[in-house]
Amino acid sequence: MDRRIHVAAAGLLATLLVAPLAAQQAPAQTAPKPSPRDTEVWEPEPRVVTPGATGDAAPSDAVVLFGGQHLDEWVNVKGGGPAGWTVADGVFTVNKPVGNIQTKRSFGNYQLHLEWRVPANITGKDQGRGNSGLFLASTGGGDSGYELQILDSYNNRTYSNGQAGSIYKQAIPLANAMRRPGEWNVYDVVWTAPTFKPDGSLQTPARVTAFHNGVLIQNNLELKGETLYVGQPTYKAHGATPIKLQAHGDPSEPLSFRNIWIRELK
Ligand code: MG
Repeated sequence: MDRRIHVAAAGLLATLLVAPLAAQQAPAQTAPKPSPRDTEVWEPEPRVVTPGATGDAAPSDAVVLFGGQHLDEWVNVKGGGPAGWTVADGVFTVNKPVGNIQTKRSFGNYQLHLEWRVPANITGKDQGRGNSGLFLASTGGGDSGYELQILDSYNNRTYSNGQAGSIYKQAIPLANAMRRPGEWNVYDVVWTAPTFKPDGSLQTPARVTAFHNGVLIQNNLELKGETLYVGQPTYKAHGATPIKLQAHGDPSEPLSFRNIWIRELK
């Protein structure tokens, strides 16, 4: 054999034998042994929030929007004065002639708890039976904003994207979890407000997750814009906004509300 070939072959053999050994040995020499502590994160420590005595009661860091006594946290949308809805026996009831009411405070992202009741003697059908609404952000007067529908949807068929738990005319609820008239319904909502660029165009859309009587009805839904009675949803720029309740013009008996609280999410 030519000596040069012999040397090259020997060198190749040495490389083949030694290289895998080196590759196996290198990590053992440099990498420390993994510890369970490597993946522990201690900062920041979550702040303490004392939960309510029951699942429906306000936690310690909530703003109580209605605790059973008065509507001091609310104003009338039209006049800006007192809400004008009727408070009695720890609940308040829609006063249709005075119109919508909204919170004095403005909010961005939040967790909200709200209880509502269709009266036992409700009449009417379709959209004209116990219609109200929770505007997750009120962007102006009237019915402006993003409406989570409130309606008697117990044995009352209407268009699916307009029944209780719908994002009005945008999203059908994942289930109909309605209790019968005369019983209390519960909404628990997580709202992520939309954000806008300096030029007013949309940066990130609004998102909502909602439970109706503990049943998931909207799952991290991305909204297409404000909810409209006529036409396609669109966004218009806004910052923090009040939350609004609807006095719908249908002739059926008015709904009542109780136990409303909110936790702002930074
Ligand atoms: Mg409505």
